[in-house]
Amino acid sequence: MRRPLVAGNWKMHGTRASVAELIKGLRQLALPVGVEIAVMPPSLYLHQVVMGLEGKAIAVGAQNCAVEPMQGALTGEIAASQLADAGCSMVLIGHSERRQVLGETDAMLTRKFAAAQSCGLMPVLCVGETLEQREAGLTLEVVARQLGSVIEQMGVGAFSRAVVAYEPVWAIGTGLTASPEQAQEVHAAIRAQLRAESAEVARGVRILYGGSVKAANAVELFGMADIDGGLIGGASLNAEEFGAICRAA
Ligand code: PGA
Repeated sequence: MRRPLVAGNWKMHGTRASVAELIKGLRQLALPVGVEIAVMPPSLYLHQVVMGLEGKAIAVGAQNCAVEPMQGALTGEIAASQLADAGCSMVLIGHSERRQVLGETDAMLTRKFAAAQSCGLMPVLCVGETLEQREAGLTLEVVARQLGSVIEQMGVGAFSRAVVAYEPVWAIGTGLTASPEQAQEVHAAIRAQLRAESAEVARGVRILYGGSVKAANAVELFGMADIDGGLIGGASLNAEEFGAICRAA
C-alpha cells in the first residue's frame, strides 16, 4: 500500500511572528499514524520551521530549488544541496504559479528535478491544466506532456523517489475544487502513463491532488483509488484545518 502524504504549501505567506504561531499550532496537533506529513514554508523561514518542529513527525520541504544542484554563483537562488543542509527532505518542482508567473519550462523543471534527487531531496513534481486547456479538452494531453518530459530525461525509475501532484490551475486558490471523479480521471491517467514504462514504479508512486482542498472535501477526494494525499495551499496556513485534512488521508 502507498503511504498517503499531505503537504502544506505555505507559498509566499508568513512573517517570523505568524510562522511561530503556526509552528505552535502544528506542535499541538494529534497526528494520524501511517500518514506522512510535511510543510513547505518560504525558504527564508526554513530554519525557523526545522528548529520549531524538531521532534514532531512533520517533515519540512521547500517550494523551489535552483537548476544547479550545488552552491555557486547564481544570485538569488537556493541550491538543493543548501536545502538539504537546512533540514529539508523534499521540494516542490514546477508549481503552476512558477510555471505561469516566472515562466519555468519543462526543460528547466527537469533540471531542478534532477538537482533535487542528486542531493537526496524528494521532488514533488506539480502538473496541471489551465481552465482554457480543460475547456478545450486538452487536460490529459497537457498533463501527459508535463510528466512525459521528466520521464524522458530522467527515466521512469526516477519516480520511485518522487511524488507527483496533480493541481488543476483553475482550482488553485479559487475555491473551485475538481470533483473527486474529475481528479481521479487525471490521477489514473498519470499512473497509466508511468505503468506503460514500469508497473512497479506506477504501483508505488504517490499522486497528490491539490487545488482548494479543505477539511470539508478532503475525505471524498482522498477516498479515490489513485489519490494518495494532497498538496494543500490556503488551508495549510491554519494548523487545525491542516490537521483535520491530515486525518482525512
Ligand atoms: P490551494 O493551493 O489549496 O490554496 O488551492 C494549492 C496549491 O497551490 O498547492
